[in-house]
Amino acid sequence: MTTLRLTPAASRFARRGRPWFFADDLAPHDARHGAIVRVVDERDRDLGVGVFSSSSKLALRLCGAWPGDGVPSPEDFFGTRLGAAIARRAGADGAAGVRLVHGDADGVPGLVVDRYADCVVLQVGAAAIECHLAAIVHELDRRVEPRMILARNDLSVRRLEGLEQVVELLHGRRVEQVDIVEDGLRFGVLPFTGHKTGFYLDQRPARSAVRGAAARARRVLDLFCYQGGFALNALRGGAQHVVAVDQSRDALERARLDAERNGLSGLVTSEANAFDAVRELRESRQTFDLIVVDPPAFAKSRRETEGGLRGYRDLNRHAMRLLAPGGRLVTCTCSHHVTREKFEDTLRQAAAELPFRLVIRARIGAGSDHPVWLSLPESEYLKVVVLDRVDLGDGRDGTD
Ligand code: SAH
Repeated sequence: MTTLRLTPAASRFARRGRPWFFADDLAPHDARHGAIVRVVDERDRDLGVGVFSSSSKLALRLCGAWPGDGVPSPEDFFGTRLGAAIARRAGADGAAGVRLVHGDADGVPGLVVDRYADCVVLQVGAAAIECHLAAIVHELDRRVEPRMILARNDLSVRRLEGLEQVVELLHGRRVEQVDIVEDGLRFGVLPFTGHKTGFYLDQRPARSAVRGAAARARRVLDLFCYQGGFALNALRGGAQHVVAVDQSRDALERARLDAERNGLSGLVTSEANAFDAVRELRESRQTFDLIVVDPPAFAKSRRETEGGLRGYRDLNRHAMRLLAPGGRLVTCTCSHHVTREKFEDTLRQAAAELPFRLVIRARIGAGSDHPVWLSLPESEYLKVVVLDRVDLGDGRDGTD
């Protein structure tokens, strides 16, 4: 068994709940790459177990408490952690999509596992976890009995771990498309080629909010619509007309197909750069009762934060001005480096000189299958703000 001791400074961080450590946070040791290790602080007090990697910048990732003072076998460790994570999602609808394992927040750093009906798609972002893929696949097969287990290991972060980017069928047979049913809507998911593991499962609460708001919406704008998750919910919720914008022709084609399969009419797709689309819509003086802005992460690293914030500000400035009186804006960021405070500050800047007020109607995050770990603020990557246009009625044209 290997025990890793943290330096005094690193021990302080660990006691506050930080799970990630660099090579120089560790006292001299002889841990092997991929080992599950016992971790102690500078005074030999137990910090639970972790996984060690000699090829990553993050040499040690803590995985939480473990009974006794030894280390579990990989089978025992992954069996226990995956079992507990899956049990926490026991209420999930079998026909739906659900995240079964959400990395650090579920005590398995660098591992994401999504289930789409009877197919499982995983992503490994940590070299030490990759060493135990066989145990993970065995456990998922035993507990979920899926038709397929696919590794969508085409993540760019894998380069930092010295891992190659591959998409690999790990178990079962190839399933090119799997249908999921979310709140009565059927979506076709492409596990091999879709974004992330195939679908934006994290936006489920916001999709539900959009559906609820759509009854009083005549015209809806879904910017960065991908395969129409928000657009279709708006139509199902009673919207008459949805303009869905994305730069991907394939995604729009899938949105149209899914609308048809769900018996929904009123979808108009537009293949365009969303930044151009909002400008053109303003020039043609169009307005919308409900607008969704759900762009890709503009700030993928800390270095990109400033530029990313500028993107959010410009986009939202235009989107806000497309709101009809009484309209609602559902605006999102999925950038880890943009905190909720920073995002709302950016929205405030975007709202400067608006001829009406915006009030914060709700703040939404990812669904409960994407848990946010209090001690790891970065695990709250998705922030959604719902803003309502309020006209105070003291302006001549009926605006504030
Ligand atoms: N709202 C979607 C997820 C959006 S993901 C859902 O809930 O499922 C981001 C989408 O933005 C992708 O489909 C991508 O093709 C698209 N995209 C990225 N940059 C864009 C741009 N500049 N203009 C329009 N679409 C863009």
